[in-house]
Amino acid sequence: MKTDNEPKKTRSRGKVYLIGAGPGDPTLITVKGLELLKRAEVLVYDYLATPKLLKFVPKDAELIYAGKKGGECHAHTQEEINQMLVDHATAGKIVVRLKGGDPFIFGRGGEEIEELAKHGVAFEVVPGVTSATAAATYAGVPITHRDYTASVAFVTGHEDPTKETSNIAWDKIATGIGTLVFYMGIKNLPFITENLIKYGRDPETPVVVVRWASTPIQRSVVGTLATIAEVVKAEKIKPPALIVVGEVVKLRDTINWFEKRPLFGKRILVTRTREQASELVRLLEDQGADCVEGATIALAPPDSWEPLDAELNRIGEYQWLVFSSINAIRFFFSRLFEQGLDCRALAGPKIAVVGTATAEILKEYGLVADLIPEEFTGEGLAAGMVAQGVRGCKVLLPRAKKAREILPEILQENGAEVAIVPVYQNVRPKDYDLVRQELAEGGIDMVTFTSSSTVTNFLEMLGPERDALLSGVKIATIGPITARTAEKAGLSIDVQPKTYTIPELVESILDFYAR
Ligand code: SAH
Repeated sequence: MKTDNEPKKTRSRGKVYLIGAGPGDPTLITVKGLELLKRAEVLVYDYLATPKLLKFVPKDAELIYAGKKGGECHAHTQEEINQMLVDHATAGKIVVRLKGGDPFIFGRGGEEIEELAKHGVAFEVVPGVTSATAAATYAGVPITHRDYTASVAFVTGHEDPTKETSNIAWDKIATGIGTLVFYMGIKNLPFITENLIKYGRDPETPVVVVRWASTPIQRSVVGTLATIAEVVKAEKIKPPALIVVGEVVKLRDTINWFEKRPLFGKRILVTRTREQASELVRLLEDQGADCVEGATIALAPPDSWEPLDAELNRIGEYQWLVFSSINAIRFFFSRLFEQGLDCRALAGPKIAVVGTATAEILKEYGLVADLIPEEFTGEGLAAGMVAQGVRGCKVLLPRAKKAREILPEILQENGAEVAIVPVYQNVRPKDYDLVRQELAEGGIDMVTFTSSSTVTNFLEMLGPERDALLSGVKIATIGPITARTAEKAGLSIDVQPKTYTIPELVESILDFYAR
């Protein structure tokens, strides 16, 4: 008999969302897939579901790697995976099962869902961009085209060639379908092409094989049914790759957009702090580069906020407030807010910034810079201020604990009274092993430096093997000061923009590779 004290039975909220992660580029996941990923309590993901999507999963979610790489190393058997999904959902969890491409195309998604259904577990399926369409598109091949083909088939290339009766009607697909796309077919490629030719497909039919489609390390090779197996062998193309067969492959000559982007195939190391790397990374990636983030500097608050607090108390006495970096602005305001103040406290002094990027950041905090110099350096900033008059003025300079002294020196020489307060400090990240390894393997084409300290820290972190590690690597610096530091340290500069901004740096890198 029920009593009032008994807890009310609530319907279990546990559910499994089977989501397609898309082909490799993390931004090719669907909006719905991404939204569900952000709500996951348990994530079970595959080898082909790009790790770059993991950052969207809540920090406290349980992450389970299900493995599966070309059938070799299985972190879990299919039965174990099925059981995990059932168990976590039954326990009331929101379970996201993330699979590469589309979950219902050669992904065993159907089997997993059957198992859930059998146990009465609630589920939803979110389709994904399958690697076949992505590979064709990213290799410059429209998978259908009115002038070339009226049909397309997705075929597994994984079938054991020694099997007596095939599930694939080779005689029918060889001539009955326009475009054929084979998944998991690299090992069996000779068998696949032989069969298609044997059953009547023209040996001259063009073929493209695409590895790691839609990612910065995409590679594609072309041939014909008669030649492609040899080409793939010679070029050492390994899985995961797709094989696209059909007349549409000819269109690649006109449509190959992805691989023709100016920085495609270039692997560029960005040494900026993680906080500041994103603009540079985005602009480089827009041009097709593969960026490696190897921050040489991490930022930390100063050892003490007392000096800044003291000056904030008498901010009214200052004629100038000067920001020579974005970091200085960010840390300055974080403390200002912590002290219960806001931009109204800064109504008195004129504000000078070192360049347009700092000016933009300042605007985020509700303030418009009174002075942006013509040249975006400490010297330029000093000159701009001197031109407006600094004699007898009190100047507050919140900045890094360690910084170049040229700006305060010039201001003082011109009669200003400068108070320097540390608002952050650069600390060196502990672990640089991955970057060292990439350099050692010759995987990096270019290193970008956006400040002198990135140069100094970088070289110190490479240690005595630096020359060997950097042999053949191109060097790009953002401005003359950074370049000078790099040159003094024995590096030779390949890229150096005229204006010292991130977009100009990217322009100069483009010019360099266009040459
Ligand atoms: N469900 C996935 C396919 C899983 S089967 C989808 O819809 O894409 C695994 C095979 O997919 C691989 O062997 C390879 O042939 C292909 N594949 C997956 N991602 C790929 C990629 N980025 N580039 C090339 N082939 C890929």
